[in-house]
Amino acid sequence: MRRATARKPSANRAPKRKPKLGQNFLVDAGAAHRIVEALGDVSNRTVIEIGPGRGVLTDALARRAKRVIGIELDRVLAAQLRMRYATRGNVEVLESDFVTAEFASMVGRRPGPLHDLRPTQPDTVDIVGNLPYYITSEIVLRILELHPHIERAVVMVQREVADRIASKPGSREYGLLSATTQLFARVEKLFTLPPEAFSPPPQVHSTVIRLTMAPRLGELRVEEEPFIGFLKLAFAQKRKTLANNLRVRYDAAAIRTAFKSAGVRPDVRAEAMSLEKTAAVFRTLATA
Ligand code: SAM
Repeated sequence: MRRATARKPSANRAPKRKPKLGQNFLVDAGAAHRIVEALGDVSNRTVIEIGPGRGVLTDALARRAKRVIGIELDRVLAAQLRMRYATRGNVEVLESDFVTAEFASMVGRRPGPLHDLRPTQPDTVDIVGNLPYYITSEIVLRILELHPHIERAVVMVQREVADRIASKPGSREYGLLSATTQLFARVEKLFTLPPEAFSPPPQVHSTVIRLTMAPRLGELRVEEEPFIGFLKLAFAQKRKTLANNLRVRYDAAAIRTAFKSAGVRPDVRAEAMSLEKTAAVFRTLATA
């Protein structure tokens, strides 16, 4: 069994994994169809499926997409999927962790008898998956990190996570995941499924969201890495004001000046800030 090369583990990676790998399999065939349809016309596209499991989405994808790459962490499921799609030239299955796998090794050419028939590396791919809920945020953040390679992603997440991702500044749910997602993508909530749509049923409802990549870094005049670091600092402690969170790195006078020039109240909290205002404060502090 071939595996994708692992990239260096991120320092933020949660150290502990639940043993069952979030294996709630979708048993509602209509819903599987709607998820794949939400990708649009994929007849000329490479689609990476995160966690194909027993293949309910993979079957539908194999009929529609030019190339399907399933990334499945469970060794037994990955082996079963490989056997099932062995004769489908457009489906490949890698036993790998989507969060740590290198993008190039996911989409690259594979050695073997089909080598010469494999397509060349695609410019961009689409992503689909009913995400394992124990690791949703890490997977969404990895998808966003890969934004230059991705056009759209249709993923199923826990309903509350979908609400957080789509929420607007000033709402209770708005946080780091909302801000980071909206920095890179337009977010649409598509539909919600009850626990009975899965086997075994999870304890929560699930919502399918579509992320259409539309990075705002240029428009906000920020560099990706430092601005993401700034967002992490801004949202570090939810109970604190933005100014207090920023005090870890910047001095009080510089923060006051930056808030004033951005037209921001001194006692504002990060969750009340639009990305435009946050970027304005960041830019002023970066040049202070
Ligand atoms: N796509 C299938 C479906 O809709 O029925 C399975 C969905 S199930 C919610 C999540 C799948 O992701 C499981 O097959 C699980 O083994 C796999 N998985 C869990 N963690 C993973 C990871 N880090 N990378 C890739 N696959 C993972």
